[in-house]
Amino acid sequence: MLSQRVKNLTPYVPGEQPQDRQYLKLNTNENPYPPTPKIEGFIKEFNIEKLRLYPDPLANNLREKIAQRYMVGKENVFVGNGSDEVLSFAFYAFFDSSMGKLLFPNFTYSFYPVYCDFYSIDYDKVPLNTDFSVNINGFLNGEKSCGIIFPNPNAPTGILLSIDDLNNLLERYPKDRVVIIDEAYIDFGGQSAVSLIVRYKNLLVIRTFSKSMSLAGLRLGFAIGDKKLIETLFAVKDSFNSYPIDMLALKIGEIAIEDEDYYRSTTEKIINNRSKLSDELEKIGWEVLPSQANFIFTKKHGVTGQKVYETLKNKGVLVRYFNIEGIKDFVRITIGTKEQLGILLKEVQKCFSGK
Ligand code: PMP
Repeated sequence: MLSQRVKNLTPYVPGEQPQDRQYLKLNTNENPYPPTPKIEGFIKEFNIEKLRLYPDPLANNLREKIAQRYMVGKENVFVGNGSDEVLSFAFYAFFDSSMGKLLFPNFTYSFYPVYCDFYSIDYDKVPLNTDFSVNINGFLNGEKSCGIIFPNPNAPTGILLSIDDLNNLLERYPKDRVVIIDEAYIDFGGQSAVSLIVRYKNLLVIRTFSKSMSLAGLRLGFAIGDKKLIETLFAVKDSFNSYPIDMLALKIGEIAIEDEDYYRSTTEKIINNRSKLSDELEKIGWEVLPSQANFIFTKKHGVTGQKVYETLKNKGVLVRYFNIEGIKDFVRITIGTKEQLGILLKEVQKCFSGK
């Protein structure tokens, strides 16, 4: 009854969303601040009669607004149902084992190997440097690869590569293979690689509305790259689903992308909260990796990540740990509001002081 393909799948496991009680959720890198208040008026006034019609399969208006915001052409923009979907299309479109293996860091977004299995793409994991930063030389040495993908800043470490590092990588990498930079968390302190797409036609930058724009529930993501890459993504999308983005999401996306001032202010709050949380944890003996994302990756000597996770869960605070050799001692904590982080810190101090 089941296909061989489906028998071999190992699906991605998202951060838990338990319903048994109310938790302080610091486990899935959601934004603690609401999306732009301008969305409310639109939803209240939306004429539901319009839902009879299919949405624009080319997402023209939203792509135009994204293009204006990032100073590229509309032909350089693709939008999808969350950046996970954009990533999935991109894996299908650009990575092919007959050209070599796909490369990504050994500790990174755990959806990447899942897409590889789904599309039968061979891959190699490139070890991070000892300070947990992404090792660019590791992508360039060794056998020819069919492409490279990594988040910048990386997840779950939060560590950022500079534009100089990215330039260095793109300059040295073969121009007939695609490099994807997944910028899900770039707004929290990094410099985007979007400006490099003109020079490197093999660079695809993928972004999301889920993090800095507080719209994880809406499911919108986009890619920016050379026209040919974007056309290929459309060909993949149109072989799978003509209308992955509904009419409401398209319009809400337009409203969100235009309200830069609002998102700048919420992002600044998150950056401040991150630096305060990091300082406070370091003061009580925790090691915190230098993060430019809306989360930190931290550990306390002598306590496993699992122990920290379980203890805090018992206290009603959810964080995330990864049962993977090499990062088992860490937990990833999403940056919440000042009040939320106050609660977290109180519990951390109570439960782990002196251990
Ligand atoms: N890339 C990275 C590195 C992520 O951490 C996430 C969030 N899980 C995504 C992409 C996907 O985000 P979304 O599908 O909500 O746009």
